[in-house]
Amino acid sequence: MRRGTNLPWVRDYNQGVVLEAIRLGGGVSRVEIASKTGLTAQTVSNIVRRLLTEGLVVEGERPFDGGQRRVPLSVNREARSAVGVQIDVDETSIVVLDLGGHVVLRRRCATDPEHRPLEVIRQVAEEVGAVLDEAGAERGNVLGVGVACPGPLDHRTGVVFRPPNLPGWDRVHLAEALSEWTGYPVIVDNDATAAAIGERWSGGARGARNFAFVYVGVGIGAGLFLEDHVFRGATTNAGEFGHITLDPEGPACHCGSRGCVEALCSPGRVVSAVERRIRAGEPSLLASRAEYGFAEVCRAALGGDALAGDEVRRAAYHLGCGAVSLVNLLDLELVVLGGKVLGTVAELYRREIERAVEERTMASGLRRVRVVLSQAGEDAAAVGAASLVMHTAFAPRQAGLERADLSQLTPVGPSV
Ligand SMILES: [Zn+2]
Repeated sequence: MRRGTNLPWVRDYNQGVVLEAIRLGGGVSRVEIASKTGLTAQTVSNIVRRLLTEGLVVEGERPFDGGQRRVPLSVNREARSAVGVQIDVDETSIVVLDLGGHVVLRRRCATDPEHRPLEVIRQVAEEVGAVLDEAGAERGNVLGVGVACPGPLDHRTGVVFRPPNLPGWDRVHLAEALSEWTGYPVIVDNDATAAAIGERWSGGARGARNFAFVYVGVGIGAGLFLEDHVFRGATTNAGEFGHITLDPEGPACHCGSRGCVEALCSPGRVVSAVERRIRAGEPSLLASRAEYGFAEVCRAALGGDALAGDEVRRAAYHLGCGAVSLVNLLDLELVVLGGKVLGTVAELYRREIERAVEERTMASGLRRVRVVLSQAGEDAAAVGAASLVMHTAFAPRQAGLERADLSQLTPVGPSV
């Protein structure tokens, strides 16, 4: 079976840098690219010529008083696309991203938690085909499929190792199977890391060389960009932020420890805390309801329910205390917050995390750490997974791949 990590059209690092300058610059000229990137005029000129030949970039009108070096350049959005998939225990999100970083199409479909992993992967493969048809994507221009899912996993081989938040997925060769069934190269990554890459690709986290993407889903994780590069760690499982200990005597966590960020702040834990207090007789708008989940608790909190508001704010503030550890340890400039479940309470979470970071960060007198919401919103991980494909194809070193890794990749065209 073919290995699932081959990406076509991989080029050198400088090409990635120039393409990014054009993509995010909106009508930037060769002269401006040279000054922004520090590359020589000749290098920029050569790379732009190559990008024009490949159809990745288009030229605008030559300015009245300028030469070729002042002609505005922009990416040809339709020239390439990538698919991003986020697999969660009960739902799969799929997006198609164009070369400009815009979401062309998004779709969500229910995943049956009773289904075996290979059945889920087969269903995902069918959905990917259907979504590409609906988006009208030229199959030959699809770079590949990126998949974001809960860890632990091996990003290099695309094998998933028994994630607590994906029960039954024990040593599943996800990349290999999905590549076989879709005909495209497949890259697999941790959902939080994918979300961090997506933020950078879509032009968020601007000016921040060191930032964490705090991802709140069924579980909680953090994707890390350090010195402008994705940080993956020894086994590509860095960023298990959800299992930082906040309270060593706190509630048991499914990882085997106690008082982890996830055990104290996950959406499931907020719901059970509300349930416990209502059972103890405290008043709440939710007391009359037979069943409610995190979305209902959030609605109640925003509607002025004191008990629900109390628990949501407490979880968000504790999450912020975990973020303080990240900021202190890594000297971060920025914390980006995102994830599917946050929905309407995203801003409330952001404010509480900001408060914790302002109150508790060690070097707060030296610099202000910004806390912002993700530009990609609820689809951050799926958009991130698609961005991962783009990022690996056009900015390989930032994606955490060195030239040695890339030289082993055999460019393959997807089967149409
Ligand atoms: Zn834990």
